[in-house]
Amino acid sequence: MMDARGLSRRFGGLLAVSDLSLTLQVGELHAVIGPNGAGKSTLVNLLAGELTPTEGSIWLNGVDIAALDTERRARAGVGRTFQRTNLMPELSVLENVRLAAQVRSGGILRRADRVRPPIEDALAALTRVGLRGTEQNAAGTLSHGQLRQLEIAVALAGQPSVLLLDEPLAGSGAEDAAPLVALMRDLSREHAVLLVEHDMDVVFAVADVVTVMVDGRMLARGTPGEIRASAAVRDAYLGHVVA
Ligand code: ADP
Ligand code: MG
Repeated sequence: MMDARGLSRRFGGLLAVSDLSLTLQVGELHAVIGPNGAGKSTLVNLLAGELTPTEGSIWLNGVDIAALDTERRARAGVGRTFQRTNLMPELSVLENVRLAAQVRSGGILRRADRVRPPIEDALAALTRVGLRGTEQNAAGTLSHGQLRQLEIAVALAGQPSVLLLDEPLAGSGAEDAAPLVALMRDLSREHAVLLVEHDMDVVFAVADVVTVMVDGRMLARGTPGEIRASAAVRDAYLGHVVA
């Protein structure tokens, strides 16, 4: 489905992502973990088209999309959430989904090309994330957990095949997190999901594959069981978190 090969991204003297390869496929939840500054968000930005790679290629269903911008990638089937959300609190939940999905696919800048998702698609996305019934409420009235669900609905409204989730649980308490974790598990049945997440309990509970990044490079990759048992991972990463 999505296949990144030998991705690198340089910022001046810093190699934020270095020779990283990864495959995302439908039915699989691929988690990326690593300490702050490891390059996880840069990797997501490379896959989503916010950044162009210094080196490497990104294939989506056999087509190299590395040169496509975010809009074209959104249309090709790449959906993402951001660590920080930009929603409009006065607008309804439904209009937020439609507007944000439209902006991401370039519909506002290119008026000739109207891609605001139909109401039915926006409602389907809201149903999928568990927000059906709130669609006429102002987005500003949603709880923190519901806002994170809304951000996922925005990504889903573009009908993506690949979903890139950058810390979708950020700031959530245990109560907010549980339905989101169940949702991510569920979404990975129909989408190729990449999840950047700090909480190890969550990662080990939902991931099929885990990639550990340190200093832009892949340190280890394996099943949650393999990663949990890896001495190299414990030394290089899990140790940091405890310390
Ligand atoms: P993570 O998401 O794993 O915490 P990031 O991908 O955000 O890490 O950052 C990786 C490294 O790249 C960090 O050292 C960060 O300061 C640097 N970095 C990220 N984005 C930029 C940028 N736009 N310009 C310069 N340096 C950046
Ligand atoms: Mg990050």
